[in-house]
Amino acid sequence: MKPIPYGRQSISEEDINTVIEVLKSDFLTQGPKIGAFEEEFAKYVGCKYAVAVANGTAALHLSALALGVNKDSRIITTPITFAASANCIRYCGGKVDFVDIDPVTGLLDMDRVRNLLEKSPLGTYQGIIPVDFAGFPLNLEVLRSLADEYGLWIIEDACHAPGGHFVDSRGVQQFCGNGNYADLAIFSFHPVKHIACGEGGMITTNSKELYEKLRILRTHGITKDANLMNENHGGWYYEMVDLGFNYRLTDIQAALGMSQLGRAVESVEKRTKIAEIYDKAFHGNEEIRILNPMAGRSQWSYQYGHAYHLYVILSNRRKELYDYLKKNNIHAQIHYIPLHLQPYYQQFGWSKGDFPMAESYYNECLSLPIFPSLDENEQQYIIENVLRFSENID
Ligand SMILES: *Cc1c(COP(=O)(O)O)cnc(C)c1O
Repeated sequence: MKPIPYGRQSISEEDINTVIEVLKSDFLTQGPKIGAFEEEFAKYVGCKYAVAVANGTAALHLSALALGVNKDSRIITTPITFAASANCIRYCGGKVDFVDIDPVTGLLDMDRVRNLLEKSPLGTYQGIIPVDFAGFPLNLEVLRSLADEYGLWIIEDACHAPGGHFVDSRGVQQFCGNGNYADLAIFSFHPVKHIACGEGGMITTNSKELYEKLRILRTHGITKDANLMNENHGGWYYEMVDLGFNYRLTDIQAALGMSQLGRAVESVEKRTKIAEIYDKAFHGNEEIRILNPMAGRSQWSYQYGHAYHLYVILSNRRKELYDYLKKNNIHAQIHYIPLHLQPYYQQFGWSKGDFPMAESYYNECLSLPIFPSLDENEQQYIIENVLRFSENID
């Protein structure tokens, strides 16, 4: 068996041809593909506005800036996420406060968030960055009402979850990043994510004000909009009204993203099928537990649409399992090493023992390969190896 990675992009002939077309056109960057991709993506997640940026990390950074994060800000996030979810606060000089996870879902534990807010003086926290970890959507309706009580904004880190949804209390499907509950949501188009641009990111929102701010911040804080400028000297004239960055996406990347977006629904379906086969294979196994909150719970299947970026299993012989799979050419991955234990974050006073749920999750978690082009033979090979390992308890 040739090496199987935990995640992999799928590139079609059509993807390739779309990119070639851009290379032959007049615009490599800031051409017509950016706006078209933004419009299509907004439609896909069901929000009003979308801003394409250079990558998911840039999306987080600009979101934090647009919401006014500065050195006096304190923001809540989860320790089980990619570093960028917290780093964006540090880029703006703010303080990151982690809250432990719910071991059933792997997501930020909203009861613990409530406890923290209740025992802190009102106004201590300005915002919260939940993550739809592994592609399982956080119930943002619940988080929104909590956030409103304490005056917090929400940035939904939906990098794992384009196409995921939860059903709100009125029975309405709420797609990740649709802007109905979060102020801003962000996505990544790194090749291991659902939609690949090489590098790329998107910010989605229903707020026109934030949308306009983000568009200016994406390109140096420069505008040519007559309504926003103090003067106008002629056709060449622009004003730099804020301190922004060059966080633009190229037309080459946008064209690839748009072509990929055309298969996004089908890709989530393929991921779901793969997950269901894993669920069945590991159901009831004493050694291998499944993190998937959907597995075997029919009420969850009604309430949630999992986007299956990751398929996580838990084992108390995780390191041996990781090594065993690797020896057999299966490149599983660990998501994630708890952020509060990274040396950079430990310097702010976090240490081992602070978040027992996140830490015990980390000791046991392993992400099995899941991506649309994973074929049946490969998946059977993975399952056989995991089961062979699990039966071999000496
Ligand atoms: C991938 C990812 C990011 C960062 O996206 P990049 O495009 O790699 O910068 C942020 N948050 C989460 C949860 C991610 O998985």
